[in-house]
Amino acid sequence: DSAPEPEVRHKTPTSVSATHRQSYYLFIFPAVDFLRNLFSKTLGISGEKVLDELTLEGVARYIQSGACKNIICMVGAGISTSAGIPDFRSPETGLYANLQKYNLPYPEAIFQIDYFKKHPEPFFALARELYPGLFKPTVCHYFIKLLKDKGLLKRCYSQNIDTLERVAGLESEDLIEAHGTFYSSHCVSFMCRSEYSMDWMKVKIFSDDIPKCEKCNSLVKPDIVFFGENLPKRFFTSMAMDFPRCDLLIIMGTSLQVQPFAALVGRVSKSCPRLLINLEKAGGVSPHNFPWWRLLNARSFRDVAHISTCDDGCLALADLLGWKAELEEMVKREHEKIDSKAKEEQANQSAVATGKAETGKAETGKTKAE
Ligand SMILES: [Zn+2]
Repeated sequence: DSAPEPEVRHKTPTSVSATHRQSYYLFIFPAVDFLRNLFSKTLGISGEKVLDELTLEGVARYIQSGACKNIICMVGAGISTSAGIPDFRSPETGLYANLQKYNLPYPEAIFQIDYFKKHPEPFFALARELYPGLFKPTVCHYFIKLLKDKGLLKRCYSQNIDTLERVAGLESEDLIEAHGTFYSSHCVSFMCRSEYSMDWMKVKIFSDDIPKCEKCNSLVKPDIVFFGENLPKRFFTSMAMDFPRCDLLIIMGTSLQVQPFAALVGRVSKSCPRLLINLEKAGGVSPHNFPWWRLLNARSFRDVAHISTCDDGCLALADLLGWKAELEEMVKREHEKIDSKAKEEQANQSAVATGKAETGKAETGKTKAE
C-alpha cells in the first residue's frame, strides 16, 4: 500500500510523432542495447542458457523438466481475435472509421477520460455494440487456464478488457488486467467511488440509460483504463513481485507497442526464457516492432519466436507437452456450457417478451425469476 502512486500514464500510440518514434527505435534503442551488452559482458551479469534449443520443442522440454515452475503469460488483443473481438483501440481495425455517427471531435476521444466525463453517450453506445459476454474464450485462453490447473501459472498479464480470461476460468488473483476490465464498474466521483457489478452495468448499457451512481448520481464507468487514466495500482505492485521470480515468459497476441505494458519483457531475469507466439512476421522490420525483434535476435540464447496464430501456437505447444487432447476436451466442454447457457437466456428472454405481449400470463414472473 505504501507504493508511490505511479506516474506512468497510458498513452495512445498516436500521441508520439512517427519521426520521433522512428529515431528512437533506429538510433537510441540500439545504442542502449549496445551499452547494456558491453556492461553485462564486463561485469559478468549476462544470463545463463536455460533452453537446450531455441524452438517450441526446447520450451516444451524445459516445461517438462520440472525446473520451470512460475510461468507468466503476457497477452494482447491477438489472443481474442479468433473469438471475433475486434482490437478496438487499434486504428487499423476500422472501428474508428465507424464512429462518425457519434459526432466525436476526433475518434480517440471516445476513450478519453475528460471527454467521457462531459459526453458519456458515445462510449456507452459503442459499449452496447461491442459488449463482452457475447463471445467465447479461445483455445489460447484455455491453454492459460490449463497452465493454472497444472500449477504452473504465476500470473497472466492482459491488455484485454473483454474479460475472456475470467470466462475461461482464471480468477482475480491469477490475473492483472493492465488496461482494466468490464468485470466491475465504479462511480467516477472521487468522494464516492461506489462499486457496481458487471450485471448492473449490463442492464444499464442495454437500456438507453446513462449509468448513474445510486448514491451520488455521478456517472458510473466500467473499470477499463481510458487514455489519460493511470493503470491499476495492482499492475505495478504485482509486476515488482512477479517478474524476478518468473521461470518462463510466454508473450501472446501482442506486438508490444503500448507502454508501460511492453516494457515488462525486460523485467524478467537475464536467464529467463521468453517465448513469443504472434502472427507478425520476423522479417517485417517496421519501426513499431523493430526493438522487439532486435531483442530476439541479439540475445538469441533465450528468446523463441513462434510465428502463428495464438490458438495454433498453443495447440502446438500443448501437443509437445502431451496436453493436446486435454486442451481440446476442455475447449469443447466449456464452449458447450456457454452455448447452452446462452440458449437458456435467449429462451428466457423470448418467454419474457411473449409474456409481456400477452399481459397477465402467470409464467412471466417465474421466467424472470430464473
Ligand atoms: Zn457515487
